[in-house]
Amino acid sequence: MSKKNPKPTTSPWARKADSAVHGYGLYAAKDIPAGTKVIEYVGEKITKAESDRRDEVRRARQEKGGDGCVYLFELNKRYDLDGDVEWNTARLINHSCDPNCDTDYVDGGIWISAVRNIAAGEELNYDYGFDWENYEEHPCRCGAPTCCGFILKKEFRWRVRRAQAQAKAEKKGEEASNKKSHYRHPINPMGEFDWGDLMRLKARLTTGAGAGRTLAVAESLTAGQIQSRIGLISGASNFFRGGITAYTIDAKVSQLGVNRKLAEDCNAVSPKVAEQMAKGAATKLGASIGVATTGYAEPDSANGVKHPFAFWAIAQKGPGRKWSYKTGKVSGKGLSRVAMQAKVADKVIAAMVKTLKSPPRESRS
Ligand SMILES: [Zn+2]
Repeated sequence: MSKKNPKPTTSPWARKADSAVHGYGLYAAKDIPAGTKVIEYVGEKITKAESDRRDEVRRARQEKGGDGCVYLFELNKRYDLDGDVEWNTARLINHSCDPNCDTDYVDGGIWISAVRNIAAGEELNYDYGFDWENYEEHPCRCGAPTCCGFILKKEFRWRVRRAQAQAKAEKKGEEASNKKSHYRHPINPMGEFDWGDLMRLKARLTTGAGAGRTLAVAESLTAGQIQSRIGLISGASNFFRGGITAYTIDAKVSQLGVNRKLAEDCNAVSPKVAEQMAKGAATKLGASIGVATTGYAEPDSANGVKHPFAFWAIAQKGPGRKWSYKTGKVSGKGLSRVAMQAKVADKVIAAMVKTLKSPPRESRS
């Protein structure tokens, strides 16, 4: 290669020794006061293009299981410094996430300088500050409390920590759900409810002044439970036209004709949305009565919801095709998702029994 390499750099402040962290390291030969220029980081001055090429070679070498150390330093816009040369003693300095040295540009060169007082015998280190890209290629074993496990610029470390926290939480959730896979919920939503209300509902729709009316259901929060209950009534098909479960705003808009702007303004949870869902289901399924639920079956921090709550609506087509509405709210403070769904289904069926006592009259103010 080159004819004669320079002699390795030396410094009165540093000596070379085996490192606990990685290969060799440099150690303080005596107490070093903060601000001291400890040793110059020297190397070959190369163009950016050459620097990129060498980085590729390094990466290929690393993929084959070889040395992945990075010694390239940015000198200025045109040139980099390749410190991977025998005579650059500073290349032995290891990385730390909580370093005692830093790199400084002094008179066109690079110096390793002490950022705090360093006691004789301490291993010298600085923050390599690698980029986010391919950070996983550079695991860190520095042992600093702030270490994120990778040699990474400070401003990127939180990303790794967040990813690690997410992975941990996911694993925990997985373990919990595995444990509960044979666990039966004590509240079976179809298990306990007022059978009498279902019979009264049937009477409202099949006898007296209200006979001949038909029913359709639109559900969000109750997810089909109102339909399931009505479906238990003997002869349900005589008055029950069917139902639609629509969870998303898109489904509520496209399947039930809910106004998109209205829905987007309240995440599709409001009495008005419930009314539009009820009317939408009745219209779509050719029924004279529509019933709907929408709400939060459990707390939702993203939407500022601390406790479950729901709105329901009953829409009735009266004489002259005029729609009239009845709405209500159900609170579910402290309830589980399952219990809340069951409670809302109960309340809505009870509300139907009450509201559908008599069909809407002609002169309603
Ligand atoms: Zn570290």
